Amino acid sequence: MNSEPLIFEKSRAGRIGANLPQCDVPEQDIVELLGGDNLRSMLPLPEVSELDVVRHFTHLSHRNYSIDEGLYPLGSCTMKYNPRINEKTASLPGFAALHPLQPVETAQGALQLVYELQGMLASICGMDATTIQPSAGAHGELLAMMMIRAYHRDRGDTARTTVVIPDSAHGTNPASAATCGFRVKSIPSNQKGCTDLNALRNALGPDTAALMLTNPNTVGLFESDILEICSLVHEAGGLVYCDGANMNAMLGITRPGDMGFDVMHFNLHKTFSTPHGGGGPGCGAVSVKKCLEPYLPIPVVTRSDEGTYLLDENRPCSIGRIHSFYGAFLIAVRAYTYIRTLGASGVRAVGENALLNANYVRARLSKAYDIAYNSPVCMHEVVLSAARQKQANGIRALDISKRLMDYGVHPPTNYFPLIVPEALMIEPTETESKQTLDEFIDIMLKIAKEAAEEPELLRTAPHSTLVSRLDETMAVKNLDLRYEALFAGSPHSTVESSS
Ligand SMILES: *Cc1c(COP(=O)(O)O)cnc(C)c1O
Repeated sequence: MNSEPLIFEKSRAGRIGANLPQCDVPEQDIVELLGGDNLRSMLPLPEVSELDVVRHFTHLSHRNYSIDEGLYPLGSCTMKYNPRINEKTASLPGFAALHPLQPVETAQGALQLVYELQGMLASICGMDATTIQPSAGAHGELLAMMMIRAYHRDRGDTARTTVVIPDSAHGTNPASAATCGFRVKSIPSNQKGCTDLNALRNALGPDTAALMLTNPNTVGLFESDILEICSLVHEAGGLVYCDGANMNAMLGITRPGDMGFDVMHFNLHKTFSTPHGGGGPGCGAVSVKKCLEPYLPIPVVTRSDEGTYLLDENRPCSIGRIHSFYGAFLIAVRAYTYIRTLGASGVRAVGENALLNANYVRARLSKAYDIAYNSPVCMHEVVLSAARQKQANGIRALDISKRLMDYGVHPPTNYFPLIVPEALMIEPTETESKQTLDEFIDIMLKIAKEAAEEPELLRTAPHSTLVSRLDETMAVKNLDLRYEALFAGSPHSTVESSS
């Protein structure tokens, strides 16, 4: 990584990046043409050559880290390699240049793709119907909550106002339930890191609308009591929602629908490979069992007996619209391409290799770090804890992550799930080779040794980056991405952007 400070001020008076042809019409006075009020007296655009611009943005891009550069073991985020063929199909003009208001007769291929993808997703998760409209996992959760609310209301079951959620859940789960107007009841996990059945029994009652459960859960473990969990909720009159962001672990192996879940969301951008991070767009497709199908958002893509694809808006029980038009269509194209190129056996291999890779990392790191829960195997991710390092000499998960950056590795997820102290949550994904995993593991082992022998090295890391430790709260709450050139009187005059 280049550690020279980045000088943003490239402007040189009179330098230009474009050559316009000689003007062959009479020149007009711009003030006369546009009116003085519409003109700014000073427009501080940098005066730069094309090469200056290319180099500036190329230098900036080199400061970034991406999956195309190396391992991205961010637990819960499934940062897998995104095959280029997905980008190729998503950029085909017949897909990319579609207009959302085009008559359906002229968009049959696109509708067929959505229809078939919905079917493939439903069969992958063992449900009956799917919508690709939500634009994020959290958006899918909200949609599911809205459908569950509509379902209970339609049955006159209006006292069901509570959603039960384990304390290991992703923060979006309680947020989505609360946004939909439900009261959230949090239940503790047991010592194995799974749902505590007694706590669940105590939490269920005539006010239960649903249980929101992540399986495999966020500590990377399969909920082995899942059949009993689902029947307890059903006996109490509630529905069971699966946060399917961790579907990568189960692909082709097992299906939430068969476990008793009534509804789930996929993160197409995670499990089915769309480059993500940095705020979207994504696709939180939602699959439902028959009992929730009438509530799907409109329009629903259907197929007539003659084989014509339609946008069905005539759905009296629908919760309505949750997205303009039909959702993030090109993410559906990527997911469709991904599934079709893999085929059924390839989809299963994704799941199997995701499990194998995570368990390999877990086995090789289990002596140097604490493993959050002492189960024989993990699913697609392993949650380590730096509790041991913290107790020995105050080294925290954050210090380990910062030190990883010195070795050119993207850190894992830190401090999530919240129930694991000093959590380091590692999801290698299936796309990494054994060699890459070994490199990462060797670095993690080296850092564990450094933590014991030279803790100061970790406390002051990273040493190799442009900036070292940022004020993370300020970086989130007060992110300043705006650059203003060094002109007299400019309020943000700056040579070096701090963020
Ligand atoms: C990523 C994730 C979500 C939220 O998905 P977004 O697309 O970021 O809204 C929800 N639950 C779990 C377990 C996740 O990993």
